[in-house]
Amino acid sequence: MPVDHAVIIGAGIAGLTAALSLSRRGISSEIFEQADELTEVGAGLQLSPNASRILAGLGILDTLSKIWLEPESIRLISGSSLRQLAVVPAGKFARQRWGAPYGVLHRTTLQKALLAAVEAEPLCRLHLGMRMEAGPPPSERLADVVIGADGVWSKLRQSIAGGPSPRFSGNIAYRFTIAEDEAPGFLDRTSVSAFLGGSAHLVSYPLKETGSFNMVAITDGNIAPQAWQSEPTAEQRAQLRSRLAGWNAAIVSLLERQPKLTFWPLFETTSGAWQDGRAVLIGDAAHAMMPFAAQGAAMAIEDAYELAACLSDRPVAEALAHFERHRAPRIAKLRQRGAFNRFAYHARGPIRIGRDLVLGLKPPQSLAADLDWIYGYRAMRP
Ligand SMILES: Cc1cc2nc3c(=O)[nH]c(=O)nc-3n(C[C@H](O)[C@H](O)[C@H](O)COP(=O)(O)OP(=O)(O)OC[C@H]3O[C@@H](n4cnc5c(N)ncnc54)[C@H](O)[C@@H]3O)c2cc1C
Repeated sequence: MPVDHAVIIGAGIAGLTAALSLSRRGISSEIFEQADELTEVGAGLQLSPNASRILAGLGILDTLSKIWLEPESIRLISGSSLRQLAVVPAGKFARQRWGAPYGVLHRTTLQKALLAAVEAEPLCRLHLGMRMEAGPPPSERLADVVIGADGVWSKLRQSIAGGPSPRFSGNIAYRFTIAEDEAPGFLDRTSVSAFLGGSAHLVSYPLKETGSFNMVAITDGNIAPQAWQSEPTAEQRAQLRSRLAGWNAAIVSLLERQPKLTFWPLFETTSGAWQDGRAVLIGDAAHAMMPFAAQGAAMAIEDAYELAACLSDRPVAEALAHFERHRAPRIAKLRQRGAFNRFAYHARGPIRIGRDLVLGLKPPQSLAADLDWIYGYRAMRP
C-alpha cells in the first residue's frame, strides 16, 4: 500500500526538509516539535552543492542565495605561520563543477526559509510545543510511517531495536562571533578559512546576514558533561589555551580576548539500525557526526529527500529497508572522510610536516576532484 500520511518528530533541518520533500510527492505530514517557537538556533552553516541542489529542487534556493555568501574558496591555513597550505576553489567554480552553489549562511536563515515553505504547503502541518516522550504523538490522522528527525538525543531512536546510541566524541567546539569591522586582517572576508594546528583547528567565515564572522574552534577535549551549549568555565578556558600552544600569537590573543565563548561538547552516534519497518531515523538522530567534513546538515537534507523518494513508490517496510541500504554506505564513507580530516587537521610533528608537503603539491583542481563524490552527488529521484 502506498504511503499517504507521515508523522515527523522534530522540526530541525531534517524534519522540515522531510515534510517538504514528502509534500512534493503528494504525501501529507504532521511535524511535532518540542520547542514552542522556532527561534534563532546555532550559528553558521556551510551548505555544499549536494545539499543546495536539493534545496533548489524544493524551491527555496532562490530565497537563500539572495541572502547568503558564496565564498570564492575554502582555504587551509597554517595555524602557526598563517601561511596558506591549500585552496579549493568555490564560487563560480563550484556552480560549474558540481552544478549547484556552495554557500555560507546563518542556520536561522535556512530554518526560516524551510519553515516558510512548510507553512505555505497545505499538505504539511506543524505542531509546536509538542515533545514526544514514549509512544507515538497524538496525530490528527493515522500515520503510515513515523520519521524520527529529533536530533542526536532522539527519543524515537529508543524504540528501534538495535538503534544507534549517542556518545561523547572527544571533541569540543568553542564558538564565538566577531563583528566584521572589528575583525583582524588575517580573517578572509571572501572565503571559508580553516586554520590548522596540533590538537585543534579554527574555522572562520563571514555571515552576510549578521555582518560578522562565524568562528568555531574545535579541539580535542576530555570534559563531557551532557550539556548542549554553555559558557566555558575557567578550567575549560585553560584547556583551550593549552590546545593552542604553538599557535600564532594573533590567533591566541583573538580567542583569549573573547568575552563570550560558547562551550559545546560534541556528541556523535554509534552505528546501528535506522528503521524497523514502520519507523525510521534521519539526520542527526540516525548518524550525528563530527563537523570535520561540514556535512551533517547536508546529510540530513539528502536523507529527507531520498526518504521521500523511497516512500513515494513502495510499501512502507520495503521503502524503509531500501532507504537504509541506499544511505548507509554514503554515511559510512563520509564518517571515514571526517575521521581522516580530523587526523590531518590536528596533526603534529612529522605527520604535520608530511601533510603540509602533500597539500603543497596538490593543485586546487586535484583537491576539488577529491570532493566530487561528496559535492557532485545527485540525490535519488523516484
Ligand atoms: C560546530 C558544528 C558545526 C557544523 N557545521 C556544519 C556545516 O557547516 N555544514 C553542515 O552541513 N553541517 C554542519 N554541522 C552539522 C549540523 O548542524 C547537523 O548535522 C544538523 O543540524 C542536524 O539537523 P537535524 O535536523 O538532524 O537535527 P537537529 O538540528 O538537532 O533538530 C532536531 C529537532 O528535533 C527537536 N526535538 C528533539 N527531541 C524532540 C522530541 N522528543 N519531541 C519533539 N521534538 C524534538 C529539536 O527541538 C530540534 O528542533 C555542524 C555541527 C556542529 C556541531
